[in-house]
Amino acid sequence: MALTTSNVDTLVLHGGPFRADPATGATVVPIYQSTSFDLQTTERADRLVNFEEIGFVYTRIGNPTQDVLEHRLAAIEGGAAALALASGQAATALAVLTLVQAGDNIVTGTDLYGGSWNFFANRLKQFGVEARFVDPVDPDAFARATDARTRLYFGETLPNPKLNVFPIAEVARIGRDRGVPLIIDNTTAPLLAKPIAHGAAIVVHSATKYIGGHGTTIGGAIIDSGRFPWEEFADRHPLLTGPDPSYNGRRWVDIARPFGPLAYIFAVRAGLLRDFGPAIAPQSAFQLIQGLETLPLRIRRHSENAARVAEFLASHPKVQHVIFPGLQTGEARRRADTYLNGGHGGLVGFELTGGAEAGRRFIDALRLLFHVANIGDAHSLAIHPASTTHAQLSAEEQLAAGVTPGYVRLSVGIENPEDIIADIAQALDQA
Ligand SMILES: *Cc1c(COP(=O)(O)O)cnc(C)c1O
Repeated sequence: MALTTSNVDTLVLHGGPFRADPATGATVVPIYQSTSFDLQTTERADRLVNFEEIGFVYTRIGNPTQDVLEHRLAAIEGGAAALALASGQAATALAVLTLVQAGDNIVTGTDLYGGSWNFFANRLKQFGVEARFVDPVDPDAFARATDARTRLYFGETLPNPKLNVFPIAEVARIGRDRGVPLIIDNTTAPLLAKPIAHGAAIVVHSATKYIGGHGTTIGGAIIDSGRFPWEEFADRHPLLTGPDPSYNGRRWVDIARPFGPLAYIFAVRAGLLRDFGPAIAPQSAFQLIQGLETLPLRIRRHSENAARVAEFLASHPKVQHVIFPGLQTGEARRRADTYLNGGHGGLVGFELTGGAEAGRRFIDALRLLFHVANIGDAHSLAIHPASTTHAQLSAEEQLAAGVTPGYVRLSVGIENPEDIIADIAQALDQA
């Protein structure tokens, strides 16, 4: 029996149809470590291949453990359906590639995760697709960059390192008028931001971060709002509204219709995932289900701790400035208050007065915080991008990416905040 609540702290534990394992009664979601599933009769096999019935066939395309994770992620984002994938990077790649072909373009905000930036700026060219980068400070820039071959807009809710919240509703509205769906990467603000409620058509996540929450598992997801009117803009979306030669010329909008407004997520799963293959392992899906159960508790604590750390840093003499949504002013603050509810997330950036050398000394002096490239772990993490993740870039490119020499990024964990601040304080003494 499906649950009727819209409370996310219940949905992360009970969302979707899974109640207990039908075979054994196990209440914890089992790890269905099976590549294949009994097709039973040839007649049923026919129905499955022809999408007359939905069922499990082969784990590259779907698996019962993965299915529970998908229902819960769709529930917390307010989407119609979701697809779990091997990584956040796979989620972004498939989310985009489902809608584009050679000659098309996408318009994306400039404030992006490095992997997304590289995929858009460099890899998409290999497919004959152009990425147009615009500053999301001005939502109308999306309209100006749009032409007849624009297939989607892309942005991140709370992008590193600027932490300027994306104008979700403004850009979604511009796209909705033109038939261009907005894809939002909500990795850094799960539960805090509800991109679909503000008009985003599609949400992607790196579940590796806050959803898993314990630094154990790589995974990602695409959530389809089920609200984008593809057929109203059929010329712009031939890959969903026109014949697909890999399915005997059938159209995704027709294939999905009996099951709901699911053309897009059907095309990602049965088209792109089938052909590229970045399936999530059942074991990984299980770990992410476990992580998701405590996400509401953790994200609140991450946000509270980050606010305390930001406040401490703001009054420290060795800190030039602090980057945290709760300390922003003006339009940036208005967007943070509009799109983030119940906290500002766990990421804090700051600039050391001593520049690059101080950044290195700070990192090397840390005892509690881990020095890793990850974010969203229950443990507190720190990195000095100029000497690590962005070290290969020229000084100019670093600056364009918002990475200054003395910039340090913290992913504030859920430890006692006094211990986190004490470690930062002693490391600052040595920086
Ligand atoms: C980490 C990250 C990704 C990529 O996710 P992986 O799980 O590492 O592949 C995408 N977007 C954002 C914002 C991220 O932080």
